Formats: sequence, structure tokens, C-alpha cells
Amino acid sequence: MTRHNVYAPNKIANDHLQSYATSNLNIFQGAPSYSSCNSPIRYEIRKGLLAGKYVGRVVVFLRGTGCEWMKTGGGCTMCGFHLATNAGVKINDEAQFEQVEKALNETRKYHYPILCLYNDGSFLNPNEISREVAAKILNLINKSTWIKKTGSMTI
Ligand code: SF4
Repeated sequence: MTRHNVYAPNKIANDHLQSYATSNLNIFQGAPSYSSCNSPIRYEIRKGLLAGKYVGRVVVFLRGTGCEWMKTGGGCTMCGFHLATNAGVKINDEAQFEQVEKALNETRKYHYPILCLYNDGSFLNPNEISREVAAKILNLINKSTWIKKTGSMTI
């Protein structure tokens, strides 16, 4: 499959981007999927800004299904996230939820108010993560009292 919607202002740049995206796609399609995806890749403690103050921030790198944009056309040319994903093979709901549950269990001791969940794709794309498990994850975060909620979470 070739990517069809690369845009660049001239033919040389366009051809270059096209070839880069095609090579991304080939790498993605040839990448192995994981036999077990029920643990996050890792987490890191960083700083974040909340209401003008620096606070602790937990960044969790989840094993994601893989970005559908990458799967269907080679993705964004600057992106290498696909290398850490399940190569487009959808991770089952239980494993997706278990990853977040484990991450929260391991990091709750910090009581940091910011949580960043990176899944190297889209949390809102049901082909990558089903709506049911996304709602379950949001419910779990909602119950995690140490995480600051800055908007309404209607699930
Ligand atoms: S994960 Fe984000 S940046 Fe990477 S290809 Fe997908 S949409 Fe683009």
C-alpha cells in the first residue's frame, strides 16, 4: 500500500516524504507483535505545570496497539512511535486495562497530580482501544483521588 495524502510544496520534497512514509509503513507491517501486552513499557517521573506551579507528573508509556494512521498509510513522517507498539494488532481489552491498573498501582505512592498516558496512537480510536475499556480506564482514573481533574469526566 502506498500513502496517498502526503503534501509537500514541490515534487522532490513530495517524493522524499512519500518514500519515507512508505518505508515507515513497511517497517510497521514487518514488525512483530507481542505475545503479552498486559504490562506498560515503563513509567517516568517528570515535572509538569499545573495552575502556574511545577508539580510532579507521572508519564506512563503503555504498550499500544499502534496508530491506525501508521497502519493505513505510513503515519506522520516524523513519528517513530510505531516501533514501540503492537504493530497494529489490537491489544485485547483486559490487557489494555491491566496495563493502566498496574501503572497506577506502581505510581500512586508519589501522589502526583498529573498523569500522562502515552499509547503511541489515539486513545479515542476504537480500532486501537475499544470504547468500553477506554471508559473503564477513565473511571479508574476518576477514582484515583490524587490525580487532579481539570474538567468534567462524564462517562
Ligand atoms: S502516533 Fe501520532 S504522530 Fe505518530 S503517526 Fe500516529 S498520529 Fe502521527
